[in-house]
Amino acid sequence: MMRHAALALASMPAIAACSLPSMPSMPSFSLSPAPKDICSGFGLTIDTDFASAGRHDCAVGPDGNVVVSVDHEPALVEGINPSPWFAFRITAASARQTYVTLDYTDYNHRYAPYVSRDGRAWTPLPAGNVTLNERKTRATLRLDLPQGTIWVAGQPLSPSSDNIAWTRNLLSGRGFEETRYGDSLEGRPLVGFVGGGGLEAIVVLTRQHPPETSGQEAYRGFLDRLLKRDDEAATRFRNRTRVIIAPMPNPDGVDGGHWHLNAGGMDLNRDWTTPTQPETKALSAWIVKEAGGRRVVSMMDFHSADKTVIYAPPLTSPSPTIDFLNALKTKFDSTLSQPPQWSYSHNINGGTAKGWALETLKAPGITVELWDPIPSADVRALGAAAADALIDYFAN
Ligand SMILES: [Zn+2]
Repeated sequence: MMRHAALALASMPAIAACSLPSMPSMPSFSLSPAPKDICSGFGLTIDTDFASAGRHDCAVGPDGNVVVSVDHEPALVEGINPSPWFAFRITAASARQTYVTLDYTDYNHRYAPYVSRDGRAWTPLPAGNVTLNERKTRATLRLDLPQGTIWVAGQPLSPSSDNIAWTRNLLSGRGFEETRYGDSLEGRPLVGFVGGGGLEAIVVLTRQHPPETSGQEAYRGFLDRLLKRDDEAATRFRNRTRVIIAPMPNPDGVDGGHWHLNAGGMDLNRDWTTPTQPETKALSAWIVKEAGGRRVVSMMDFHSADKTVIYAPPLTSPSPTIDFLNALKTKFDSTLSQPPQWSYSHNINGGTAKGWALETLKAPGITVELWDPIPSADVRALGAAAADALIDYFAN
C-alpha cells in the first residue's frame, strides 16, 4: 500500500501539468488517480492494476507522449541480473497513435515488447515500431492505440496462477497429487505436484526468476512429452520414476513484477546452499522428503537468457547418473535444428539449485537456459527432446 500511495503522489505533477493546466496544483481527491493508475493525460490512462505488472511510474508529456520508468525490486545484494521487466496497460479515450518511452535509467532494453487487447492473446510489436537510444537505456515504442485498453509487456503475461493451472491441467487424471509444500514470504501458496512410480525420482522446476517465460515454455514441452509419450519405454519410465514438480517456486516475484528476486530481495537461485528464504527452505526440504532416498536421475531447472545454453556439472562429478548428460547432449545434437551450447562447472557454494542437486541429491542438476525470443516450436522441441532423452536412457 505504501508503494501505491507513493505512485499516486508521484503522478500528480503529470496530471496537473498536462491535463488540467488551469487547475491549481493542490491535490484534489476526486481527481487523484486510482491506486494503480500511474499517470494520465491527453485521454490516456496508464495502469498497473494486474498480477505481474511491472514496477513503473510514468509521466505524460506536453506532446501527449508517455514515458514509463522501468524499475527493479529492492535487492539485498548488489548485482541484480539485468532482466528489466515491464508490463502495463494503456487505456485511450479514442483511437490514436502515441509514443511510449521505456526509461531504464542505467539498464539496457532486453525484452522485445508484446501487445495484447485482452491480456491473453499476444503479438510481438514489429521491430520497426521500437527505437533505442544509443546507450539502449531508453526504448521508444510507436503504438497505434485503439479506443479502449491495450496491454504492453516484455513477454506474454504469465502470472503465478498460470503455470500452476497449466501443470494441474496436464497432470489431471494421471495419478498425481497436488500439495501446498509451503508459503511464500507474502503468504502465497507454494504448490507442488508428485506422481509416477517409486523406484527412482526426477525433479523439475521453472520460474525461480520471474520474467523467464521462455524457460517455462521448455518446461511445458518437457512435461507434456514426459507424461503423454505413448510407447512402451515411456510407460516403463513413468512406472518406475517418481516425478517431483515445482511449477512456481517464486510466486511473489512473478506476481510482483520483479526482475529476478523474491519479495525478500534475494535471488532464489543463489539461496540453495544454506537457504535463507521461506521459498528455498520449503522447496529444498520438500524435494528431499519426496525423493525419500531414491536415486534421483536428474534435477532440471528451466530458465531464460540471451542465448540457449545448458549449464551442467562436470562429467566427472560424483553422481551415479552423471552419464545421462552425454545422452542428453546426443539427443539435442541429433534432433534439434539449433542444439544448445553446453557449459560444465560446479561451485559448492554457488547457491544454485543445480549445485544443490549434486551435493544433496547426488543428481546431475541441469540449468536449461532458453533464449528470450526463441520461437515457440523450437522451445517446445527442446523440452520434448529432453524428455525423450530421459525416457530412452532410463527406461531400460
Ligand atoms: Zn534464471
